[in-house]
Amino acid sequence: MDIYDRATEREEQDRELALKRLRPTGPDATGWCLNCGADLPAQQPGMPAPRWCDCDCRNDWERDHK
Ligand SMILES: [Zn+2]
Repeated sequence: MDIYDRATEREEQDRELALKRLRPTGPDATGWCLNCGADLPAQQPGMPAPRWCDCDCRNDWERDHK
């Protein structure tokens, strides 16, 4: 691994950390359930965008991503 590789790796780590700080609660909403891929209802005003169908899907996803 040369200096350039090391610098790139460092940059990627910094970027990941920055993203984690911006989104401390996990991944972005995509419009589909992150666990099973089902269509999700549109985001409700004042509510966070849904990322899973229900608690079961969220729990499954969290278990797989720990
Ligand atoms: Zn689901």
